[in-house]
Formats: sequence, C-alpha cells, structure tokens
Amino acid sequence: MKLTIFGTGYVGLVTGACLADVGHHVVCVDVDADKIARLNSGEIPIHEPGLEALVERNLSAGALEFTTEVARAVSHADVQFIAVGTPPDENGAADLQYVLAVAESIGSNMTTHKVVVVKSTVPVGTSDVVRAKLTEVLGRQNSALAFDVVSNPEFLKEGAAVNDFLKPDRIIVGAASEHAREVMKELYEPFNRNHDRTLYMDVRSAELTKYAANALLATKISFINEIANFAERLGADVEEVRRGIGADPRIGYHFIYPGLGYGGSCFPKDVQALGRTATEIGYDAPLIAAVDAVNNRQKTTLFDKIATHFGGVEKLKGKRIAIWGLAFKPNTDDMREAPSRVLIEALWEAGASLVAYDPVAMEEARRIYGTREDFVLAADKYAALNDADALAICTEWQQFRAPDFVEMAERMASRLIFDGRNIYAPERLKKEGWSYISIGRAPAY
Ligand code: NAD
Repeated sequence: MKLTIFGTGYVGLVTGACLADVGHHVVCVDVDADKIARLNSGEIPIHEPGLEALVERNLSAGALEFTTEVARAVSHADVQFIAVGTPPDENGAADLQYVLAVAESIGSNMTTHKVVVVKSTVPVGTSDVVRAKLTEVLGRQNSALAFDVVSNPEFLKEGAAVNDFLKPDRIIVGAASEHAREVMKELYEPFNRNHDRTLYMDVRSAELTKYAANALLATKISFINEIANFAERLGADVEEVRRGIGADPRIGYHFIYPGLGYGGSCFPKDVQALGRTATEIGYDAPLIAAVDAVNNRQKTTLFDKIATHFGGVEKLKGKRIAIWGLAFKPNTDDMREAPSRVLIEALWEAGASLVAYDPVAMEEARRIYGTREDFVLAADKYAALNDADALAICTEWQQFRAPDFVEMAERMASRLIFDGRNIYAPERLKKEGWSYISIGRAPAY
C-alpha cells in the first residue's frame, strides 16, 4: 500500500521505517527541513536500536522517502498518518496545534478520498476536532470530498521502539466506517501473521485506551515509589516488598521498580493531559492528580538524600558530584522530563560542580545545557569519577550494573554512592567499604 506519515519524530520515523520494511511504499513528511535533509543523507536524528539499518535499507530500496513537500506527500497515498507532537500547553492540556496544522495541510491538498489516521496521543474527542477541521478546509474550497478519521494510538517504547512496532502486543483501531476498518486491516496484515493482534473499537474508546494505558503504567511507578517512601521511614526494604508483591500473578513483577520517578515525553504529559480532561468535563479525578504529584516529589528525592548526607544544602557548595545516566531511561538519548535534570539543576543551584556520563545522551545534554564550567561531560563512566566526592546514579544502563568497584574507589575522593535506581546490593557495597544510599532501603555505611 502507499502510505503518508506526517511527523518524523520517534513515532513517525519508527512507524514509517517499519511500515516500509514490510512492503508498503511510505512517504514521510516533516516541517523540519534540516531533519529531512539529515534523514535523506542516511543520518538518524535519534538513538533507537535497529532503526538506522531499517531506514538505510528502505531508503535505498525506494520504499521509504523523506520530504518537506506537503502537496506531493498528500497526493502520494490514500492513507495519511498524523504522527506529530502533542506537547502540553500552559494548562497541561495536549496542545493540538500541530495535529490541526496537518489536518489543514491534508484538507487543502487532497483531491481524492483519504483515510486520516491519528497516531499522535490526543485527548478523547480529537478525532471529531480533526474531522471538523477537514470539513471546514474542504468547505472553503467548495469541495464535497469524503474522508474517514481513524484513531490508531501508538504504544511503542522508546529504546525498544522498532521491536515493539514490528511485534506489537496489540494494535488499537478506532474507526467509524467499514471502509476505514478494511483499510487498517490490510495495512497491518503483515503484523498479524501469527494471530490477529488488532482490537477494533469506536474512536473515543481508542483515544481513551492510550491515556488509560499510560496512566496505569505511571500509577504503578508512583505506587511503588510511595511504598519505597514508607519503607524508608519504617525500616523495611522496598526491594523485598517488590519481590513479595510481584509474586502474586495479579500484580506481577513488571514495571514496579522504585526509583527517581518516571520521565520522558509521554507519561508526565499524558497523566497531566488526562487530569486536564477531568477538569474540563467537571470530573474530580484524585488518583490521576496523585500519580503526578507523587512523581514530582520523587524526582527530588536523590537531591534531598545528598543534601542530608552532607549536612545541608549549603554544604554542597564546591562539592564535585559524578552523575551516571542522563537519559530518562536506558537505551534512549531522550532527556525530556528526565529525573537527572531535576537533580542536576538542584545541585547547580546548591553550588556543586558536576561531571556526567551517559552512553548515548551526551550530545543531547550538550544541546540542552550548552557549555558550562560546572558541567563536564566525561569520556567514559570511570573518567567521570576522578576526584568526585560522590556518585549519583540516575539511569539504570546495563553498563553501570557490574562496574569495577576497585577502580571506582581509586578514582573517587570518597567511596560514596547515591543510587536512584537501586542497581547494587547494599550489603556487598558495605563490605567493600562504600557508603551506599538508595531508594526505599536503609542506607548502608
Ligand atoms: P517528536 O517531537 O519526536 O516528533 C514530532 C515531529 O513532528 C517533529 O519532527 C516535528 O518537526 C514534526 N511536525 C510538527 N508539525 C508538523 C507538521 N505540520 N507537518 C509535519 N511534521 C510536523 O514527537 P514523538 O515523540 O514522535 O511523538 C509524536 C506523538 O506520538 C505524540 O502525540 C506522542 O505523545 C505520541 N507518542 C510518543 C511516543 C514516544 O515514545 N515518543 C510513544 C507513543 C506515542
């Protein structure tokens, strides 16, 4: 099939590359001319395992094209995906300006029937807004062309996006017409070979499914962080509690790791947008508000522990702190809403100087913070430790899990670790002479 995708960010680019790889002819269009030029020269603007090879292969085969030419992109295909950003506006609601700009582009350039597929995460009712926009634009041209609007939210995880897209747990399709359902069925046929993973539903349910999924995942994280805070105050070990509750299959072990809170471009904004929807419909949603509040508090917990350990915020002045991990989670260079940023900015405020290392997010950190005297990006994880008064771990990258503690001790000014991801065993570190402070467990000295 011929397909057009608006937006070449995490979602649009992965969607485009994966749909091209199974045999569709995909044109990806973006307003960012620089990004399109880089993509056309084979450069991938984001770190996503497996994506580069996929883009290269399909670009050279002609199955995947990148363009800024809207008219050509619209005429290329009967199916038009909207995969642009929906960032929070000043009230926390999803800002639909980019989605509606795409609807305007499609409406102004279409000359045949289109199936418009909304893949961006959008509040319930947005498909109706897109439909109204298309009707308005077509009306301006005295056009009576028909179209369908489909909700097809995306569930890929950054860091595992290609694999998630190629082997989805489920494909959600909210469609109002038989024609739209048939088109979506054909489009996703290659992903349903083993068994049909598609769930067809009404448009509003599809839109709400995406928010429900992200809000529940965020709730699991805030829940275990709440329990971690109980554990710290009650002399219990949250890791024992985690294993104890995870053993119940109704709870399970997945996605209940205590830590510094969730970040990234989705959970914070989607939880806030759902809260905003509650306000708009006059519904009191205390659970959703609490998930967000617990998470915001949790992001400051490592700083509080560091300040307490050194005897107060004012004692942090001039301290040299090493940071391992900048990305909001492993296997991505994405630092949007990353807990590391809350820690970094609080440490600067207190007058500490930082030496940081992340396996892939260094360039992103440089882009965000620029060059500063109190922010050195180290060549590797050990180099970050030279003369450091303490190490703070913000991201649980695989390569941080079993480091050479002897080399670490030799490089650091003192054997002190603040672990925001609980990746080490406190007893072991204590035996080797470290002071080890983690989340929801007693400090080990
Ligand atoms: P992103 O910010 O990485 O990319 C958005 C892209 O859209 C940018 O390249 C931007 O230049 C482009 N764009 C903006 N206006 C445009 C226009 N008028 N025409 C063409 N291109 C335009 O965003 P993302 O992370 O890919 O997220 C996109 C949507 O998918 C959001 O609604 C997000 O909530 C949702 N989502 C994201 C993820 C994720 O893990 N990142 C997962 C599932 C769903």
